[in-house]
Amino acid sequence: MESQFGRDLSSCCCLVCLVLFGILAVLIYNMPSKEGKRRKKRRKKRCENCNYLLRGLTGNRCPECGTPFER
Ligand SMILES: [Zn+2]
Repeated sequence: MESQFGRDLSSCCCLVCLVLFGILAVLIYNMPSKEGKRRKKRRKKRCENCNYLLRGLTGNRCPECGTPFER
């Protein structure tokens, strides 16, 4: 009876470890992607001359100072 109890306990611990490891793996896996998205959002294209935010513009010139930029 004692050995059976010990076996159940160890398997239970293994399950807990697996679940914890899984949660940790998911957290670690999701962290860099979220950081990357934030960094991409921060890195908005701005005019080299006047720092005007060049987003959603149809032309290829800064509307503030007229400096051409690559789309
Ligand atoms: Zn400009």
